[in-house]
Amino acid sequence: MYTENSPKNRLPEQESRNREQSGCTEPRSTIAHIGAGLRLAGQSLLDLCFPKVCAGCGRTGDISEGFWCGSCLDSIPWIASPLCPRCGRPFTDSPDSPDHFCGECLKSAFHFDAARSALLHSGVVRERVHEFKFGGRLERLPPLSELLRSAYRSSGFPRPDLVLPVPLHVRRLKERGFNQSGLLAREFSRKSGLEVSHVLLARRHWTEPQTRLNRRQRLKNVRGAFEVHGGMDVKGGRVLLVDDVYTTGSTLSECARALKKAGVREVFALTVTRALPD
Ligand SMILES: [Zn+2]
Ligand SMILES: [Zn+2]
Repeated sequence: MYTENSPKNRLPEQESRNREQSGCTEPRSTIAHIGAGLRLAGQSLLDLCFPKVCAGCGRTGDISEGFWCGSCLDSIPWIASPLCPRCGRPFTDSPDSPDHFCGECLKSAFHFDAARSALLHSGVVRERVHEFKFGGRLERLPPLSELLRSAYRSSGFPRPDLVLPVPLHVRRLKERGFNQSGLLAREFSRKSGLEVSHVLLARRHWTEPQTRLNRRQRLKNVRGAFEVHGGMDVKGGRVLLVDDVYTTGSTLSECARALKKAGVREVFALTVTRALPD
């Protein structure tokens, strides 16, 4: 039903009068088309002068949007079923089996409700994560964040009230100059329209680097390492933890333990890559 003021109900003379009164003599749609055309031309010129380079293979072309070319997106090792519905561990050696709980989740080893990763920690994405984390190559952030968003979309996780990065101890933050999880969480949240906090969860004490430790040693190393700071009501809420790599799940699980102790109802975890045990 049209009302008196409905654009479809206006007479052509009235439309013309309105345009004259507003100092505009061209139809609005024509101007919008010209504007869109100019933007398109500008973008094409930019693409011509600064062609997009694939974050994986470094080649130009074949990148309509995003940061990865079609060929790299086809070849990087996406994590898919069959996997553990709790911790997201993929069963790469039994590709025909249905999803099922892994040995650790059958023992209820983790404090988070579920975890998912975009890719296996191997190949070119592993290189990009290392360049970002240890080499300070911050230009790797947007393409890695894009993979994180892809994992989030396919995770089926309910929308979180808050996104939290896995915190670094202040000593390591000073050494590295940035928290890779913090940057990933910020970029991911910005693009996803979610709220992020960089202060709610903190690392209470210094822990040795986890790289050379086995699962049991890692668990012992991070036990009680995290605390939840006040100033933000998280009781009864849902949190999404963000980190770069899932190795044994012990760090994410300890973060989840501290959050649940503070009253958080559900904790989900998301990482760019997942390292499988040897
Ligand atoms: Zn590529
Ligand atoms: Zn599991």
